[in-house]
Amino acid sequence: MTTTTKYIFVTGGVTSSLGKGIIAASLAKLLQAQGYRVAIQKLDPYINVDPGTLNPYEHGECYVTEDGAETDLDLGHYERFLNIPTSQANNVTTGRIYQSVIQKERRGEFLGKTVQVVPHITDEIKHRVQLLGNSGEYDIVITEIGGTVGDIESLPYIEAVRQLRWDLGEDNGIVIHLTLVPYLSAAGELKTKPTQHSVKTLMESGIQADILVCRTEHDLPEDLRRKLALFCNVREEAVIQSIDASTIYDVPNLMLEQGLDKVVLKKLALKSTTPNITKWNQFLARHKNPKSEITIGLIGKYVELQDSYKSILEAFIHAGAENEVKVNIESVHSEYINSDNAKLKLSHLDGVLVAPGFGERGIEGKIDAVKYVRENNIPFFGICLGMQMAVIEFARHVLNIADADSTEMNAATKNPVIDLMEEQKNITDKGGTMRLGAWACDLKIGSKVRDIYKAETINERHRHRYEFNSNYKSQIEEAGMVATGLNPETGLVEIVEIPEHPWFVGVQYHPEYKSTVANPHPLFVAFVKAALNNHKRKKGVSMAQS
Ligand code: GLN
Repeated sequence: MTTTTKYIFVTGGVTSSLGKGIIAASLAKLLQAQGYRVAIQKLDPYINVDPGTLNPYEHGECYVTEDGAETDLDLGHYERFLNIPTSQANNVTTGRIYQSVIQKERRGEFLGKTVQVVPHITDEIKHRVQLLGNSGEYDIVITEIGGTVGDIESLPYIEAVRQLRWDLGEDNGIVIHLTLVPYLSAAGELKTKPTQHSVKTLMESGIQADILVCRTEHDLPEDLRRKLALFCNVREEAVIQSIDASTIYDVPNLMLEQGLDKVVLKKLALKSTTPNITKWNQFLARHKNPKSEITIGLIGKYVELQDSYKSILEAFIHAGAENEVKVNIESVHSEYINSDNAKLKLSHLDGVLVAPGFGERGIEGKIDAVKYVRENNIPFFGICLGMQMAVIEFARHVLNIADADSTEMNAATKNPVIDLMEEQKNITDKGGTMRLGAWACDLKIGSKVRDIYKAETINERHRHRYEFNSNYKSQIEEAGMVATGLNPETGLVEIVEIPEHPWFVGVQYHPEYKSTVANPHPLFVAFVKAALNNHKRKKGVSMAQS
């Protein structure tokens, strides 16, 4: 293996949303499959210290790492593709960079010097990029620069990349520029000019791209590749086509066909072999050839934006492949569910997942949905807020505590079955103050979850402020909802189940963050299986009736 870490920088041109994260993750997969130890990192040019305070409508899901960092959803792709955990070091924002530089300034570490974007901010960026490389754990670090070249806020990052390439020397740092080759249907032509311009913009900042990855809806003909190579100063073999794919999980194979891994390794003066992606392809084959089909309802309030529940949707893809079943997701907006229409909206579903979330909006709809699926034996999976709503529903309708609530929604309730922990009560800052990251959980003997996980203790990632109020535990358990997962240190309830129900599991943590292609999450796998059984049972009943 290599002695020094090599660096790959991925920049974006022409427009945002070209899928830099997927390209970076796919390349990383191909390098990992050749025996290289690869890390991916994302640098985000916004001022928020992390995306934890961002509304999902702004930025999609907030992904949480083992060490409790609230990060960009691209880190989810990195983990799902590579099956290795990420951490705070894998996502850095401009806000965090400035925060540390300003803290150093306040401590007097700059010894009276004027603190400036160059060199102080750029030095901090370079330091953050090299943290992963210097750990000695990786042969290759891929750094994805968020945003599009030419943006004002990206400039310090681009300058840091320029300097780093110089410091690292040839063969040790390369730049992949992801760009768009649009198709003009009126002219019937693919156009290279936007790419030429964005490569030029990059050059104005002193960076020559080594490789172009061109997003396109049509195959790039030879002459067009030649033209791009000539006008953008790259070798023809370094013009890589990235054609629209039906699933993101096809992209590693598409990049392999295009030889992206080969050009990269050649430029980095590293040995290239044939990547072993047999397991990956086995997953793809199962994903693409399902034996049956089910429909799961996803009840949430951000359902208009697919990215809000990214990890949940991906976990269903992994669990679907594992069960050889196609999982159709039917999004149901929680604001529009009530006790009158719950049957209409939910009765045809094979399983229902109530999603995580914050605040009051759509809460009553979630409670009505839980009531319907609990009473009608439809498999139920509640995640974080979804679990909390299941507890409230049970307290209200089974224990007849009419005003049972969470103090998040109703601070004055006399029956706070979901409440803030003591240590959360005096916190006023919003950023980074929740119960975050991996916590242990002991599973009760004889429970469904113990059987599913096949473990006594698990570790799962959290992101919430409110908790199951243990003062109500014995009442709730006596009535038939059992706390089957407890935090070994605090005794906090992390899982509830209804053993009488075919499949009713609520978890305070977020299992979706840990589901990967190589390791589909056991709870998602079991839930999909339960929904499939429900589907078969319903089909059996309707066939018997006809
Ligand atoms: N809003 C709830 C809490 O803070 C649930 C959070 C979530 O679903 N991630 O506890």
